[in-house]
Amino acid sequence: MNKLIIFTDLDGSLLDAESYTASPADSLFDLLDSHGVPVIFNSSKTFPEMMKIRRLTGNHQPFVVENGSAVYVPLDHEIAAVEGLESMHGYRRYVFGEARQRLHGFLRSIQAKFRYKPLTEMSEAECIKVTGLARTDVVMAQTREFSEPLLWLDSEDALKTLAVETAAAGFHLVMGGRFIHLMGATDKNLAQRWLMNQMRRIHGKDFKVMALGDSENDAQMLADADYPVLIRSEKHGFPTIKTKASIYRTTRTGPSGWHEAVRRIFSQQLI
Ligand SMILES: [Mg+2]
Repeated sequence: MNKLIIFTDLDGSLLDAESYTASPADSLFDLLDSHGVPVIFNSSKTFPEMMKIRRLTGNHQPFVVENGSAVYVPLDHEIAAVEGLESMHGYRRYVFGEARQRLHGFLRSIQAKFRYKPLTEMSEAECIKVTGLARTDVVMAQTREFSEPLLWLDSEDALKTLAVETAAAGFHLVMGGRFIHLMGATDKNLAQRWLMNQMRRIHGKDFKVMALGDSENDAQMLADADYPVLIRSEKHGFPTIKTKASIYRTTRTGPSGWHEAVRRIFSQQLI
């Protein structure tokens, strides 16, 4: 049996979309740990936000920040010494994304044509209102390295026009739960594939990948997975996505759905 690795989105998947808590999904962490199944966070969240969630959930695995913009690898991890990594924030890092200065240059060039509000330009009160984040978490959400979440205030047609202009400039526009994310030409799957390739090289064998997400921006992450899982949302329907393997759509929402899917697929793998 090939070893299993879990990649997971956070908001609306491992974490409740409102309370940002991982219960009851977190009750499976010890079981997964005891079977050597790593849970790798792959989300739109920033480095400081990831630090907090890793601390709260006791996670020590590599993680992917800002929708596939960079992979951070702990110094004691087996792939920490692979080629191409740089030292950053006490981790080893591989970057796929675009520096924010370039994204802001692009935003300046289009700001007169569209109506939107960048997350990093919101006041603390605005940010709390839109995201539901606690006051202490606002700065962490605004400390971005590779992407800019935009609260869209314009029409659907205008958004299509922006998508065309974004692509022409060599950037990506990704639909998230609350925001559209302007970022470099990368995605969650690119970072995930890189990580899996490093793991395969080091271990000289293949792994099974289970990937869990709830939104459009998880599509690529689920596309190649052996066990793709769509977590049901209370806010939106399941996104339409194409995957290599058949998708498991959860009955329950958020971390309850995560718990349901991981338990089901994990127990099947053990048989
Ligand atoms: Mg999500």
